Amino acid sequence: MAENWINETLYPDWGQRFLVTRELARVKSAFQDIVIAETSSHGRVMFLDGVTQITERDEFVYQEMLTHVPLLAHGDARRVLIIGAGDGGVLRRVLQHRGVEQAVMVEIDGEVIRLCQEHMPMIAGDAWTNPRGQVIVGDGIDYVRRAPDGSFDVIIVDSTDPIGVGEVLFTDEFYENAARILGPAGIIVNQCGVPFMQADELRDTSARRAKFFAEVSAYVAAVPTYVGGFMTLGWSAKAAGLRDVPVATIRERAEAAGILGQTRYWSPEMHASCFNLPPYIAENLRPA
Ligand code: SAM
Repeated sequence: MAENWINETLYPDWGQRFLVTRELARVKSAFQDIVIAETSSHGRVMFLDGVTQITERDEFVYQEMLTHVPLLAHGDARRVLIIGAGDGGVLRRVLQHRGVEQAVMVEIDGEVIRLCQEHMPMIAGDAWTNPRGQVIVGDGIDYVRRAPDGSFDVIIVDSTDPIGVGEVLFTDEFYENAARILGPAGIIVNQCGVPFMQADELRDTSARRAKFFAEVSAYVAAVPTYVGGFMTLGWSAKAAGLRDVPVATIRERAEAAGILGQTRYWSPEMHASCFNLPPYIAENLRPA
């Protein structure tokens, strides 16, 4: 029988491919093409407009770092806003934190939620029915425009790249509203692409975020299926000095939050070191 491969189409001249053992979903939603497939190398994988979003095998890397770093740096995050993250993986990890009272998730495409609930239930686990979680189908930019001042402690933007529906989440208007709806010790982190191939994503958003936040930085995670080396996660804090937390304090907070020993990529040591950027990545950051 002929082999069935899916070729990622993020870059016209370079990419990865997955050997598909079974196609589970292929839907054209109002926003994007959604494909979920069983692969021989990475378990179930979701592609949006041909771009690898999440794989069963390495999703823990990305979800843990996007969630635990800002929440444990903040130290007392009770109200968390998640934008995008339609697979539910960030929601699940935010709700692992005992101190979180409310996690609001705003995902523009209800079809992504529906298809991930059906074909990738392992990503979110029981997060969808957790009473501390609230899932809203809507545009993140609209939500932040309407949200009240100071209504969140941490914002996590787990969006697609700044092309198509994700583009609005990389704008001045978005960051200005994000700063407004965050409390005085507020932190926002956002997926910022792979600088080896997408340096402009980190450079442009860092320059924009510097207009509205006292501390702008980035941290890295090695996500195997985000091809091109380190993936960067943009960091912006309302107050300077929130980023650098001693390992011992991170460990204490993780213990209190109930996540110590529950992770496979994040650790207190990885948290403390992930802001050390190789020069080819650091050069894309405006001075904090
Ligand atoms: N981990 C992936 C990455 O780094 O590229 C992101 C995964 S997650 C599935 C991306 C989600 O962002 C998608 O479900 C997409 O529908 C959602 N999204 C894109 N633009 C959005 C917007 N303006 N408001 C809310 N959600 C959005």
